[in-house]
Amino acid sequence: MSGFTPVRVDQFVAQYLRNHKDTDGDTLRAAVEDALAAFRQGVRCACGRPLWVAGSAVAGYGCFTCITGSAEPDGDPEIREACDAFLVDSDDPEDRVAQVADILKNYPQDYRQRLEEVGFVWQDDEYDLLYEEEANEERQAVPETENQRHLIHFLECGGPVTRQVIEAYMQERYTQTPNLPLIRKYFKQANVNLKAILLAGLSANPTDLDLLDDLSYFSEFDSMLGELIHFYKDACIRETDMERFSLLAQDFHMNTYDQGFDALYELHTIFQSGAKGAVIQHLAETIDEDLNAEDIPF
Ligand SMILES: [Zn+2]
Repeated sequence: MSGFTPVRVDQFVAQYLRNHKDTDGDTLRAAVEDALAAFRQGVRCACGRPLWVAGSAVAGYGCFTCITGSAEPDGDPEIREACDAFLVDSDDPEDRVAQVADILKNYPQDYRQRLEEVGFVWQDDEYDLLYEEEANEERQAVPETENQRHLIHFLECGGPVTRQVIEAYMQERYTQTPNLPLIRKYFKQANVNLKAILLAGLSANPTDLDLLDDLSYFSEFDSMLGELIHFYKDACIRETDMERFSLLAQDFHMNTYDQGFDALYELHTIFQSGAKGAVIQHLAETIDEDLNAEDIPF
């Protein structure tokens, strides 16, 4: 299988930062937006093919082939809007139909690739290579225990978040034999009932590290960075145990850094002195050292 894997801008930035820790998230995000704008304006590679937006953001404007030297993408990421261009940007459907007809006529052997080059998206799971295996597991996952049945019933049907619902979630979270694909599916759908459980759990236990971690994972599928920051800040302000405060601050940093947020800077402005200020100061120094250590390529 080949082709692009469509990703959201924030997913791409997060993935890239994971492998290039010295890259600045804001700068990269701006570069992606610029490349996407250029793509939408019809800017093309010097060779005439459409821009590969994701690659152009880090390597300068070019098509996939000119940037990588490979003939065609093989699950490489491309910004979803650039993949969807054909479907979204159909102001003049007649032009598009004519373009597709041209391609089918002129490139009978490789029309699929040519159609992709003009932004056509195959409407199936073909390109979700990264998530294909997980998605398969998720499709096949069914509740296997009474607790899972209760939980899934709530996730599907909603209703008041009772203590029983929260307990069903917590039990599933901490069981030795979790049904991961079953629950993961609802994270990936940014299921509102799942979010309601997490928020209710946090309102009962605002400094719960695991629930905050779960909310961070949820936020990967829902744009809610502001909310996530709010919950972490609130937890950091409430926590009185310095060891747990340090863990919260580290998680806050790790779980928002990929999205371009500087949690330690934010915490530093809140806790300028005192015990919490000292913890933040120490973290800022050690985390910087970690990043510098990773700059050494071997
Ligand atoms: Zn090119």
